[in-house]
Amino acid sequence: MTIALCDANNFYASCERVFRPDLADHPIVILSNNDGCIVARSAEAKALSIGMGVPVFKARDIIQQHNVAVFSSNYSLYGAMSQRLMSILESFIPYVEVYSIDEAFLDLTNLYAGSSSAILYGQQIRVTLAQYCGLPMSIGIAPTKTLAKLANHYAKQHPEYNGVYEVQPGQETMLLKAMPLGEVWGVGRQLSHKLQAMGLSTAYDLACIPPKEIRKRFNVLLERTVRELNGEPCIELIHQAPDKQQIICSRSFSKRVFSLEDLQEAISSYTSRAAEKLRSQRSTAKTIMIFIRTSPFDRQGQYRRSVFIPLPYPTMDSRLLVQNALKGLKAIYQPGFAYAKAGVMLCDLSDSRLVQHDFFSTQYDSTSALQLMNTVDAINHQFTNGLFLASNGIQQAWRMSRTQLSPNYLSNWNQIKRVQVK
Ligand SMILES: [Mg+2]
Repeated sequence: MTIALCDANNFYASCERVFRPDLADHPIVILSNNDGCIVARSAEAKALSIGMGVPVFKARDIIQQHNVAVFSSNYSLYGAMSQRLMSILESFIPYVEVYSIDEAFLDLTNLYAGSSSAILYGQQIRVTLAQYCGLPMSIGIAPTKTLAKLANHYAKQHPEYNGVYEVQPGQETMLLKAMPLGEVWGVGRQLSHKLQAMGLSTAYDLACIPPKEIRKRFNVLLERTVRELNGEPCIELIHQAPDKQQIICSRSFSKRVFSLEDLQEAISSYTSRAAEKLRSQRSTAKTIMIFIRTSPFDRQGQYRRSVFIPLPYPTMDSRLLVQNALKGLKAIYQPGFAYAKAGVMLCDLSDSRLVQHDFFSTQYDSTSALQLMNTVDAINHQFTNGLFLASNGIQQAWRMSRTQLSPNYLSNWNQIKRVQVK
């Protein structure tokens, strides 16, 4: 097999830079929800030793000193860029597994039957991406997914390969010895500690342990990893992402929330958002879970509660979902607490096209309800803040604060990039 892992470099920062060419070569950082911590950095910001996950106030001095550009996270922009990125990859080859917002595995196996070079092809992909959507990309090519991941990391570390590194026969040992355990796909921090305690430190050390012994001491997943490190493909490409089994929408508030009314607005908005996602994968939900909680960092009283609410029938109707979510909220709300976060989870999902009607129950989403929801979705697809339930509220004082948000260049006509021609 020949697998390529394509991974955009510093994706969030690169997306912001596409629309801000004045920030080329300039350090950029992106903040988490509510502008709390630094969650992404451009290469220049990394070079200033600005740490990942650091609260922004701790980096304030470096930010001012070096005039670092600071952005709130703009997920609608990153999502829109991701879609473009993936469709460009798919225009090269149909065998694409979208692995994350900025990563995809490509199966190049049948493309190079004995001829031509995969590296050249990789370079073509990089050039096209840079030209069509302005995103820099690194590509690692290897006989297995796990090795392709490592090769990608190697390409990022070694600029002399110009963004594309292919593991050539005979180079495997060199690559594995250069990679710490923590870089191996599927080896998280905990597992990495356990392996270190056994005296291992590099991917090479792990690859040298007989797979059967690994299975005995750990599990079959790590055994697969070891086999893959040795060039034996065990993890197939998944061409289509499976539908989600649960849909979650939860967020921290910009400030503490006390009243039932504010919580109702938040729960109603989160439920509406989750219901939209539910319909986009054409599923129905049979149960809804909601939670509210105070902040563990607050000194005052602590309170956290969640509740599962069974729905009368599997539904994708926002109105029914919100109505039940609010019923659940009323049941768990306690006045007198400073709430910091709330969330909604839709569960018991099934494919709406395969709904089994219960012999005794005649209830399911009516045709008119489905038509209404489709219409609402179609309108909201075209217009931001098009149609929403009044229970979502209009002021939304609790809403996440994102003071450094860049415009939604790609999804809002009013925020489209203006270019001045002199
Ligand atoms: Mg990346």
